Amino acid sequence: MKYKILLFAFSLFLFGCSASNEVTINPRSSWNASEPKPFANQVPVRITIHHEGTKFEKSDDATKHIKNVQTWGMGKDRNWVDIPYHFLIDPNGNVYEGRNVFTTGETATEYDPTGHLLISLMGNFEIQEVSPEQLDALIKLTAYCCKKYDISPGTIASHRDYSEQTDCPGKNLYFNYINNGYIKEKVKELLN
Ligand SMILES: [Zn+2]
Repeated sequence: MKYKILLFAFSLFLFGCSASNEVTINPRSSWNASEPKPFANQVPVRITIHHEGTKFEKSDDATKHIKNVQTWGMGKDRNWVDIPYHFLIDPNGNVYEGRNVFTTGETATEYDPTGHLLISLMGNFEIQEVSPEQLDALIKLTAYCCKKYDISPGTIASHRDYSEQTDCPGKNLYFNYINNGYIKEKVKELLN
């Protein structure tokens, strides 16, 4: 009897190890972020998925690219207060902290991003596929954000669900994983 209990405990332990739901978030310092300018506050109540829009490969330098996005966004072209997204995920599944989640994000299109927690996948999914690592990180990060900020997984959507002016987050991400409810279901499974 004792042996059976031990075996049960051990299999639970193994299961716990193999099915880790933890997500590691690389801080802003990992990509050498500049300080943000003064910003508008928000409470995040929904999750909106983007692609970054530039073709990006696993071997490309993610931290350098993220820094460039911030520098461009805060420059004279856009004059934003910080990098536009709250989190970014590279094709290897690494997650990076973007702007403060209690700061309203930015958009170059017509929707109002107030209350949206913006997650951006690096790449262009009109012409690329989402890597398995990136998809896995997206599901885990989304579940983490739902739990941490008390956001319903029912709110998970994407840029093009709010804007007529964009294909973002690209057809291969949108139709394979967002529009059909795949990510929503996976996030709900993780939260249960
Ligand atoms: Zn977008």
